[in-house]
Amino acid sequence: MAAEGSAGAFEDDAEPTITIGEYIEGIEAEELEADLVLGGDDGKECTYGGGYLKRQAVFSCLTCVPAGVGGVCTACSLACHDGHEVVELWTKRKFRCDCGNSKFGSHVCKLCPEKDPENPANSYNHNFKGSYCTCGRPYPDPEAEKQDEMIQCCICEDWFHEDHIGLNSIEEIPRDEEGEPLYEDFICPKCSPQCYFLKLYPDTIWASNKHNSAPKAGTTDSAAMKGGSIHGDTEKSENGVLINHLNGEKTSDNDNCPTDSAAPEKACLDGSSDGICKLGMNISTNTPSADSEKNVPFFMSKGWREVMCRCENCTNLYAQQGVAYLTDKEDSIEEYEKVAKQKREKKLEQQEGAEENFLNSLDHVQKIEILSGINDMKNEFQSFLESFDSSKPVTSEDIRAVFENLAKKKKQRLS
Ligand SMILES: [Zn+2]
Ligand SMILES: [Zn+2]
Ligand SMILES: [Zn+2]
Ligand SMILES: [Zn+2]
Ligand SMILES: [Zn+2]
Ligand SMILES: [Zn+2]
Repeated sequence: MAAEGSAGAFEDDAEPTITIGEYIEGIEAEELEADLVLGGDDGKECTYGGGYLKRQAVFSCLTCVPAGVGGVCTACSLACHDGHEVVELWTKRKFRCDCGNSKFGSHVCKLCPEKDPENPANSYNHNFKGSYCTCGRPYPDPEAEKQDEMIQCCICEDWFHEDHIGLNSIEEIPRDEEGEPLYEDFICPKCSPQCYFLKLYPDTIWASNKHNSAPKAGTTDSAAMKGGSIHGDTEKSENGVLINHLNGEKTSDNDNCPTDSAAPEKACLDGSSDGICKLGMNISTNTPSADSEKNVPFFMSKGWREVMCRCENCTNLYAQQGVAYLTDKEDSIEEYEKVAKQKREKKLEQQEGAEENFLNSLDHVQKIEILSGINDMKNEFQSFLESFDSSKPVTSEDIRAVFENLAKKKKQRLS
């Protein structure tokens, strides 16, 4: 492709370059990720009217609230805080939009100006000030050589560096060969004592590390939890997967229990609807004390929340420990992202439908005009691609040239 000016040839060397395939893939991945965080919210209306939402994307504006003690919804971050120093907090549970309330001084919310002075049930951790983890660093960290991925604790919702969660090695984090997490939820060492009752459950609720057959840090005292009546009928298969027969009365239902760790065992553990405790004990008096232990992180298996007992005793204990949300399906990121994906698919379908409807609503001349425009564009890209080694990087100069040629063609056609 002949460059218009000679400067272009030199610029190419310095420009970070990608191939067209990579470019398109990148855009699609970014769009999907954005849709997942926003939970399918289109970001047009302030969510204040919905009260404390079970989960939503939250942003903190340090321009309006430098102390970092206020949070706003997606729509407000766009409409009311454009150009401000906004910290993206990913998602938080039970949060209500603060935009324009007493914390925001004279700033008025453009979308929903009528708000109570404060949302007393909101909680604000140091993430709202733009710092994360036990080390309190910002993300991205301007002083870090590379931006390490962080893990969110499902209890305190703070984010942690993998090497700051009290493990001997990050190899202990349950992951598959590709590095994808094998756990659904992470509980940080500070929060794990609050959830120590989980130690009464069998190994099926703990994510295990394929690379590491030894017990994980989170279950080092699993011998203790295997003692006693609840584990009397728990078998261990050869590959270390526990097959669960917690609910004695239901063993006949358990015959078709999958023994594969990839298959969820939840179908076998539905016994608490009749009020019988799955654990067969008073959880509040049997929970081992966490005090003597070094605080360890917990990694929970896929589907573990559904395994949790819902009997009255257990439910009361969850409430006492301030973690009642764990048995609410809509609290989980898993469910939040599932809903987001469904909304995204619907949106994409509607977009396709809208394009079709638009074309159908045009008269014949308009249609030809648009279709020939699209055709010109296709042809131009086609000849660009043909003239081009597809493994070679595309530069902004190349793209500009394509559009310049298009503009020329359009002029020819119209004249
Ligand atoms: Zn809002
Ligand atoms: Zn602001
Ligand atoms: Zn607002
Ligand atoms: Zn850290
Ligand atoms: Zn935590
Ligand atoms: Zn129970």
